[in-house]
Amino acid sequence: MYGWGVNGGGSGIGRAVCQRLASEGAAVVVADLNREAALETVDALQAPRGQGHMAAHVDVSSKDSVNRLITLIQTRYFQPPSVCVNAAGITQDDFLLSLEEEQFDKVIQVNLKGTFLVTQAVAQALVTCGAAKGSIINVGSIVGKVGNIGQVNYSASKAGVEGLTRTAAKELSRFGIRCNCVLPGFITTPMTDKVPDKVLSKLLTLVPLGRMGEPAEVADVCAFLASDDSRYITGTSVEVTGGLFMG
Ligand code: NAD
Repeated sequence: MYGWGVNGGGSGIGRAVCQRLASEGAAVVVADLNREAALETVDALQAPRGQGHMAAHVDVSSKDSVNRLITLIQTRYFQPPSVCVNAAGITQDDFLLSLEEEQFDKVIQVNLKGTFLVTQAVAQALVTCGAAKGSIINVGSIVGKVGNIGQVNYSASKAGVEGLTRTAAKELSRFGIRCNCVLPGFITTPMTDKVPDKVLSKLLTLVPLGRMGEPAEVADVCAFLASDDSRYITGTSVEVTGGLFMG
């Protein structure tokens, strides 16, 4: 299998997605703002059949950077990735009453605009090369649905990712491209390492399965959404939350 482009692949959930797909024999493009982290991910991947994995730098919030990445991929593999996972994301938390405009803009630029730029670039490349099918998987968050204290910027960006994904799914289905979201709850990664223990233990009391999720548990759902096993699924969001906020 060729063609996993994973941005945010240098850490946490993105890295787990790369590992899961490489274990199935896919050639994986690991792209991240942190080039060293992307290289570390590639170094630890199981060897693929065929053309090999690739580490690349990308800033998903920059159109030029995203376009350079797509060109690089096409030069190396002679085709765009048939599967793209948008896992790059950041938080800059503060209460609504004190959040700075710059913190709002920055999170929207990376999480929402970045998802737009990559989704658009990959879809354009797939349509241009006449690919018969593709799967784009955007990593949203359960807080885009339910909100979260201190995350007005982040929850808005993730709600936007869901709207973008549903619209992209409607527009791209005629080209055989499916678009779906995964909505993680609280997953053990460097992102949640920043959350104070006191807050995490309080949140955990709300999780029916009683624990944080592992990045691999999100990666498993991404693998399903990428595969033909989900061929009749598009425009949906799959919650990976241990039951948090169900209903
Ligand atoms: P993480 O911090 O471990 O990884 C995020 C990665 O994104 C990092 O490697 C970082 O360098 C990269 N990145 C940041 N800005 C970038 C940019 N402009 N361009 C390219 N790469 C960039 O975080 P994670 O927990 O693995 O998060 C992955 C995704 O899952 C994010 O979209 C996050 O919002 C989402 N998410 C995480 C959780 C959780 O509990 N960890 C919950 C819900 C959603």
